[in-house]
Amino acid sequence: MTGTNRHVFRYCPHCQSEMGLRQNGGVDRPVCPGCGFVQYLNPAPGAGVIVLRDRRVCLVKRKFEPRKGLWSLPTGFMEWDEDVQLTARREALEETGLEVRLTELYAVESGVLPPDIPVLVVFYRAVEVGGELQAGDDAAEVGFFEFGQWPGPIAFAAHRRVLARLEKELST
Ligand SMILES: [Zn+2]
Repeated sequence: MTGTNRHVFRYCPHCQSEMGLRQNGGVDRPVCPGCGFVQYLNPAPGAGVIVLRDRRVCLVKRKFEPRKGLWSLPTGFMEWDEDVQLTARREALEETGLEVRLTELYAVESGVLPPDIPVLVVFYRAVEVGGELQAGDDAAEVGFFEFGQWPGPIAFAAHRRVLARLEKELST
């Protein structure tokens, strides 16, 4: 529960009783003493894509916080009713203008989106099948860049891990 206070309901969203804490499944969870509602706190799932042109990687410059102005693989959160593969294709299109076909499940990474949102990101390799390279949605810029010649700092540790692994694999 450490670091989650900001995300814990103070009052039950169903009956407005003040929430308490109770052991549930070995974890202290926010529980409503009035109606029994349990607030499950889970990481937010998202998807990202790795698109290459030869050995250059598609990166986007973040338009908004957190880590505004830094660079990342095209990534975004899953919508409630979305399949994770659809999320990956949708985010690619929204942020880069590229229509992609997913070719491989590449990595699943846990991390924390600053300041304190636990996330799980599913990264796919993908190839371009259409569209036109153009920054959109929450991307300020988009481009393809050589390993070791990124246009700026990479925003998130999970993305740095994925890029490091990819560089290693492509160089062998
Ligand atoms: Zn309640």
